[in-house]
Amino acid sequence: MKKYILDLTDSQLKSYSKAFIKQDYRINQILDWICVKKAATFEEFTSIPKDLRQELDRKFLLRSLKIVKKRQSIVDGTVRYTFQSVDKKYFFAVFLPEKGKKSVCISSQIGCPMMCAFCFSGKVKYTRNLTRGEIIEQILQIENDTKEKVSGVLFMGMGEPTLNYNSVSSALSSIVSKKEFAIGKRHITLSTVGNVTAIKKFANDNFGIRLAVSLHATTEKQRKKIIPNSFNFSIEEILSASKYYLKKTKSRLTIEYILIREINASSADAHRLARLLKQHDLLNQNVQINLIPYNTIKGANFNVPTQESILKFKNLLKLSGIVANIRQAKGSDIGAACGQLGY
Ligand code: SF4
Repeated sequence: MKKYILDLTDSQLKSYSKAFIKQDYRINQILDWICVKKAATFEEFTSIPKDLRQELDRKFLLRSLKIVKKRQSIVDGTVRYTFQSVDKKYFFAVFLPEKGKKSVCISSQIGCPMMCAFCFSGKVKYTRNLTRGEIIEQILQIENDTKEKVSGVLFMGMGEPTLNYNSVSSALSSIVSKKEFAIGKRHITLSTVGNVTAIKKFANDNFGIRLAVSLHATTEKQRKKIIPNSFNFSIEEILSASKYYLKKTKSRLTIEYILIREINASSADAHRLARLLKQHDLLNQNVQINLIPYNTIKGANFNVPTQESILKFKNLLKLSGIVANIRQAKGSDIGAACGQLGY
């Protein structure tokens, strides 16, 4: 059976192929063809001798994903991709074109065990983790399809990335590597619903990427309603771990906060949120809050807050010295906005 080449790191590729690749510089050429020139077949690796190209083709699979559906927003140009894996499972990635920046929001799991009540991905039964190769191939396929160089990566698609630590961290090493995707650390964001153990591990491994913590609530009772399957870490523990992450990595932290009418969007919530950040020494220029007005999905009994209450929430945070942005719902007309990825 052929091995999926994208599942191997450069050093794994080197040791796996030492029987037929004698010169080390060939490994760099191969990586260049895969990650920089975006070749989709070994035949295109023209700087490599033909017999070696044929050997690579015999030994390895270069692509394992198929784009089976693609929808583009007529409002903002966002593109939602549905991928099919070799074992006929489906998951999503989103291309977010902005002036001067092309980002992708990618998946880390098929389905999601966290089952957040506002999220369509949480309603898809968790099947398995994506492999390292399947994670980075989402970027390659989108670059091939759009003919654009991706400059930012968000681990905010289907799945809780911290539950797939090994594949995600291995994919990250490839995404930041100068020889491979060469995407700046500060342009990569990994989100978690509050896996304190993994936040500390990512802090200690120090990839230097941005962390987005999906807090979404100011009391434990609210949080349980919004994220029923969370990791059983308290808000206190999550914010303490976030502070540790900032201290250790000198990176940036985003607190994600979905605003749901009559659940967590009152003035009292805004005041409580400000107090919580203050208590944890998280009122500084490296921390911002993303306010995400709830995007309607099938099967969730939640309502969108009024525009007036969203602005009031933001202003109350601002009065407490907190940088808060209201996140625009990109791709909501094609089911690609936050919480809408599902089938
Ligand atoms: S919000 Fe994230 S963690 Fe929660 S169900 Fe959706 S994909 Fe999973």
